[in-house]
Amino acid sequence: MENLRNRSLSELEELVLSMGQPKFRAKQLFGWIYKGKTSFREMHNLPEVFVKKLEESCTIDALELVTVKESSLDGTRKFLFRLADGNAVESVFMRYKYGNSVCISSQAGCRMGCAFCASGLDGLVRNLTAGEMISQVLDIERETGEPVNHIVVMGTGEPFDNYHELSRFIRIMNDKNGANLGMRSFTVSTCGLVPKIARFAEDFPQVNLAISLHAATEEGRSAIMPVNRSYPLSVLIPAVKEYTNKTNRRVTFEFALIHGVNDRDEDVEALYKLVKGMLCHVNLIPLNEVSETGFVTAGRARAREICEELERRGVPATVRRQMGADIDGACGQLRLENSKKTVE
Ligand code: SF4
Repeated sequence: MENLRNRSLSELEELVLSMGQPKFRAKQLFGWIYKGKTSFREMHNLPEVFVKKLEESCTIDALELVTVKESSLDGTRKFLFRLADGNAVESVFMRYKYGNSVCISSQAGCRMGCAFCASGLDGLVRNLTAGEMISQVLDIERETGEPVNHIVVMGTGEPFDNYHELSRFIRIMNDKNGANLGMRSFTVSTCGLVPKIARFAEDFPQVNLAISLHAATEEGRSAIMPVNRSYPLSVLIPAVKEYTNKTNRRVTFEFALIHGVNDRDEDVEALYKLVKGMLCHVNLIPLNEVSETGFVTAGRARAREICEELERRGVPATVRRQMGADIDGACGQLRLENSKKTVE
């Protein structure tokens, strides 16, 4: 059975034509999928004969919800979903003044091996399909009963390591006949796969780009982010400058502050020197501690100090707002906890 959440409108048109139906049926079907329908029987404008044909070979699969943790402080919810093959992925729903935001995963696991991250501890299992990324959004809309206005691809996985499906995901969710989310409603975060940054500027100049920086010296970054050995700062920073020149869009540098590792005065100086004058914004994140990694957070007070220092010297910076403080936990931890339970 094929899950139709994985098809673009033009791919649905091919399917519909192959079933002997007129092309406009695809638009109807596509519209229903993005209204969250999972049964062809609920699609009132489709003829019975077509519905029967669809039921023979297709489904619209929701993900199985394993756990949800909800914050009583701000309504943030962390979801753990099970995919059809048993793998689990995490997604987070957050309410902001400007609308609802969902952070989705792009891979099951991650091969990038960042030393402070729970998601990469077990390596990469597999890429997610566009349909599985779409499902995280649609199923969160169903579970919360609220629309999603902004999508952040910053959960488990390196999105640029799954570029093909990431692109399909963005284009499908952008389609005005379906979810109709504007290109500026997406933010994609990469740890710095340089060749894909140039490609992304070509393909998606309107989509927001965030770079997981986390250290501002070659040595320091290579020590916590293996990707820096393939694409060092000396290559990454010029690529980001090229991106901003081409798109005229401000990039966000994500910087998770780890006590004694990247929060010392010399680290702040290196960070300032690295990004000064760039069309950028630095987002300081007090590290979410993962017991397996042994890293200790620099804390919010130190994050605020560094933020003030950068701002004083003309680098736009913020400390990431703490969402769902009472259900706090690093990205990837729900999934890790679940896999341990499964192994035990
Ligand atoms: S921080 Fe991102 S890129 Fe690095 S291991 Fe974790 S999920 Fe992968």
